[in-house]
Amino acid sequence: MKIAFHGAARTVTGSKHLLTLQNGKKILLDCGLFQGMGKETDVLNSEFGFDARSVDILRLSHAHIDHSGLIPKLVKEGFEGKIFATPATKELGGILLEDSAVIQRDDTKFINKRRAKQGLPPYEPLYDLEDAAKALELFVEVNYDEWTTITEGVQLLFTDAGHIIGSAAVHLKITEENKTTQLTFSGDVGRYNDAILRSPSVFPQADFIILESTYGNKLHDEVHGTADTLLQWIELTCIQKKGKLIIPAFSVGRTQELLYALNQLDLEKRLPGVPVYVDSPLSREATEMLKAYPQYFNKRIRKVMEKDDDPFDFPGLKFIKTVDESKYLNELPQPCVIISASGMADAGRVKHHIMNNISDKKNTI
Ligand SMILES: [Zn+2]
Repeated sequence: MKIAFHGAARTVTGSKHLLTLQNGKKILLDCGLFQGMGKETDVLNSEFGFDARSVDILRLSHAHIDHSGLIPKLVKEGFEGKIFATPATKELGGILLEDSAVIQRDDTKFINKRRAKQGLPPYEPLYDLEDAAKALELFVEVNYDEWTTITEGVQLLFTDAGHIIGSAAVHLKITEENKTTQLTFSGDVGRYNDAILRSPSVFPQADFIILESTYGNKLHDEVHGTADTLLQWIELTCIQKKGKLIIPAFSVGRTQELLYALNQLDLEKRLPGVPVYVDSPLSREATEMLKAYPQYFNKRIRKVMEKDDDPFDFPGLKFIKTVDESKYLNELPQPCVIISASGMADAGRVKHHIMNNISDKKNTI
């Protein structure tokens, strides 16, 4: 067996590791998009460094775009094998890859307008909605903790990585010439004591581990106090100053954590009667999707669900759908909380909320 690293090595994002077995079969571990590398990004995403048609199997650790975002391009370039993933990763992957295809399309349209003015030939998007839809047809669902044969001599096991819904560490048992090797790919590893998800499961023994090490050199703060901190800012901004509280939040993960914390405050009768808007179509879809997988939630939130069947919904919460509704929020004179994407505030609707509210002292970003 040989391993070649085609991304997320000496850098972050673009996770792609290619295993070549002695019998020539090729198994790809994740197929992520490079992100945020400046001018280099497009070059890095334009070529895999291997022939997409030669790959027999893909297995996906989780749905984040830096691990899944080039799957439609792999399919566009001739990959026809199976894609093994957990059921939740498949569902979330469907939402995120479609969103990614739309971003590719819109970005390329914007760039090509400029290129046309300069007399330059147009760029082609990395892939389109059709490629993303085709990729989804290749997914095969595998549940956590079930060894599955994926090709002759290779068994696969997913264990919960506690990173996002459906995320998994991937374990391969590879038998070649009567010798069995266990190879583990950690994927992104979640934190202990997450508000919603279970803690990462203990790995089975492995001979080799490919370990995700982003943030490997720092200790994260303990997760606590989200609800109390939120309440402080709502009281200061919306009650005392009568302003708007704008919270940039990732559509997957952070938005649901915030909604859960606000719901907790509501259950404890501490949430002031201030309207809360979630303004991101992707956040709405991701929240609905998450609700379909309560079996992956930790014990604490499941206990809450014995009394409150929807721990992400409370009186005063509204999901904004259309662009017009989103613009209307700017004209609202009364105090409110606006949770919007992207989490880094570098794209999406949150940008216009920040632009419209940052100059008024009453408001908090
Ligand atoms: Zn991730």
